[in-house]
Amino acid sequence: MLAENTDIDLAYFQKDQYISSSLVRQGYFPCSPLLHKSVISTRTLELYHHLFVRCPRLSIQPFVRALCDLHGIRFRNHLCVQFSEAYDAFRAVKTSILSSIKTVLGRDNPDWRSLNACPACQYPTAGESELEFEMLAAMDGNDSLKRVERREASGDASTPGRVKERYDPRVGGRDYFLDPKEVDEWDIKNWRNQEGWKEPAPQLSKTGAEKGCEDRWENMKKSHTEADRGIFDETGIFVATCRHMFVLWALDMIKSGEQRKYALAFLHRFLSAIKEERANLGLRSPGKKAFGYDIGCQLQTTLDTSPLQPLAEEENARMVTGSLHGHAHNRLCQLKFLLSYINGCGLEDLEVLERLFSLSNALAMAIRHASKFHRRQMISSWFYHHDNFEAYANLSKFIYNNYRQALTILEAKDSVISRMRAIGVLDGKEIFGWLDEEKEYLESRREEPEEDLNRMDLYVKQVKLNECRARLEAAHSAFIAYNPSDYPANVKRTNAVEQTMQHEQEKEEKLMSEVHFLERRLELKEPWTEDSEEWKKAEEMFKNHSYRKAVNRLEGLIVARIFELSKMHMAGTGMRQHLGKALKTRSKAIQEAVRTYNTAAAKLSLPREALSYDEVVEKAYVSELDFLKDTDSNIHEKIWAVPANRVLMTEYFKLFRASEELDRLHVEIHRLLTYMKEEQEYLRAVELNISENNPQLAYQVSLYRWERGRFNDLHRLRLRNIISLPGFDATNRRFFRAGVGLKCQSQGEDERADDNMGEEMDVDRVNGEDDSDSEGEEGDIQAEAQVTAILGVAVD
Ligand SMILES: [Zn+2]
Ligand SMILES: [Zn+2]
Repeated sequence: MLAENTDIDLAYFQKDQYISSSLVRQGYFPCSPLLHKSVISTRTLELYHHLFVRCPRLSIQPFVRALCDLHGIRFRNHLCVQFSEAYDAFRAVKTSILSSIKTVLGRDNPDWRSLNACPACQYPTAGESELEFEMLAAMDGNDSLKRVERREASGDASTPGRVKERYDPRVGGRDYFLDPKEVDEWDIKNWRNQEGWKEPAPQLSKTGAEKGCEDRWENMKKSHTEADRGIFDETGIFVATCRHMFVLWALDMIKSGEQRKYALAFLHRFLSAIKEERANLGLRSPGKKAFGYDIGCQLQTTLDTSPLQPLAEEENARMVTGSLHGHAHNRLCQLKFLLSYINGCGLEDLEVLERLFSLSNALAMAIRHASKFHRRQMISSWFYHHDNFEAYANLSKFIYNNYRQALTILEAKDSVISRMRAIGVLDGKEIFGWLDEEKEYLESRREEPEEDLNRMDLYVKQVKLNECRARLEAAHSAFIAYNPSDYPANVKRTNAVEQTMQHEQEKEEKLMSEVHFLERRLELKEPWTEDSEEWKKAEEMFKNHSYRKAVNRLEGLIVARIFELSKMHMAGTGMRQHLGKALKTRSKAIQEAVRTYNTAAAKLSLPREALSYDEVVEKAYVSELDFLKDTDSNIHEKIWAVPANRVLMTEYFKLFRASEELDRLHVEIHRLLTYMKEEQEYLRAVELNISENNPQLAYQVSLYRWERGRFNDLHRLRLRNIISLPGFDATNRRFFRAGVGLKCQSQGEDERADDNMGEEMDVDRVNGEDDSDSEGEEGDIQAEAQVTAILGVAVD
């Protein structure tokens, strides 16, 4: 009986295996592994997948509801579960196809994607001009993509119930996400486990990042994340992208805010991979790389003392602050870390992640209550789609827009130069000198020494003591002049008069002892009087101090405002309303702080002009506030501190950055054209090579080629349009052609050598100079699309 049963089971299992695969071959995915009562067609799953990555707000449930409507049946919850199971199987198949494609293409190294995400940044060509920064990347954390940890209900509302996550061995999104274990190695408490690392002396900071920058950011970020940690497992994601928004790596932030370990773990993985790749390809020595971060200044300090320092130095990696966030840092920090002042950064603002997050936030609703696996699956599918269908599609648009912007800025060149001449600046180097002077001045400015603080304290106490004494005198006179007959018999005024006198006496004694203490501390030979020099000096100091305090308060509020403004576009997460409210309160507080500032400014011996609210909320003002703090030096007479010259300086730097941007864009254009040509050639060659033995895989390679290939004609068209932009220098046409990629992959014997030399300018061909060629190319593209479509039908 038992044996019989086993036989039946085995037979059933074998049959089932056949049914499953035959179902898939027929274009249907089963909803369960063993019993096939319902299936979902591959086309439906594919449609859902494409709808989801285009519009992540569309979760499975509304889609299944729509299917029910179409089929004329009533929606039931279990249909969602069935659909979800079939979708998982479909995604698993897709992932395995992609991994087969990568293997046959020789791209199965886990770091391959992050090293080859962006053609403009990561596809160097032979003979291209060397840029000051080889790569501009950005990183940032975002707490919208968090996930609620599944817990049992607990009787007590204040303590969360036990965790009850379902065991799931699947790991989603391996291609994009770093392993949390790898991330934890970079937690500061684990640094000592790293080989050869010695704890540095605390003051061993090479860059001397400015005090205060960190507090500003940390405090504000904390307020958003602290309360969340209890209920969420993943509290957000940390992402790094290149300046064209291609994702390099993503990291889960787990039960924590945006800690340094995330940035360090990413840098370690990415820089190590670059180092290895360079060694394998025998490429040139490492160029500089800039990584933009909200608090790049502080991250640089951490990096310099961390075990990552040798690698970062070897790979020439430096941290910078993005342009938007940079405005909230103090002036000295800006001079060292803000992109606008760093040579070689062009017009890049490195705030690309703000833009990426404003798109990826749409995933927030779908993943909030998903499982660990599904959360990663959704995020990585979205990233894959965004990289290949958005970032890649927009690459030439990015280049075109930046090119046009740079040319527009350069139009002002003559006017800036003539204005520079007007103030006697004949050489732009002088303006660079202004920056150095400014840096020197800010570095020389010290915090108020303790002795000065004591002097001010003594002054304040003395003033209070004098006031107290005046009140005491009045109380004395009242006591002496007291005549009981002035009052009705039932009112005892004596007590009240005596009490006032006693209170004032107590206050006087307390103040006296404090004054004596400060006098001893300052080692004064005789006490100050209101006419003494010392008194007057301390009074002046105190006024300046209150003034600076008012500026600091104002600065803090503006920084907070900038921070909140930058997060305003976080849609669909409930954050917007919260921030809207915070901004309103903040503007009231700013108005109050402006009033305090104006009062303090009027009291100065050389009164400052009053500020208006509108002036203050201009974000550029933060960098100028640092100057307002200066009350005693003759800073305002310096050439670089004159407001008109500061505007000129900003414009001059913009010009400088615009011409750097053009240099970078020329390299990027050349790389993109080379990449498009070589990538398509390589993929076609592989396809051809395997088509006989493995036609299915060859077909999949053709689909893979078409993922990016569909945008290539558009890229050529847009690049061609650059040539006709007003102000375009014809000598730069030489960049508008494909060259030889240093990372070019080839199939078998290298047959490209002759080919490449004879290659015409790609853009010229589209340019219409040779119309037949242009049509030919369009014809090619159409033919290619048709072939793909026909092949698609044939294999279906
Ligand atoms: Zn800073
Ligand atoms: Zn890029």
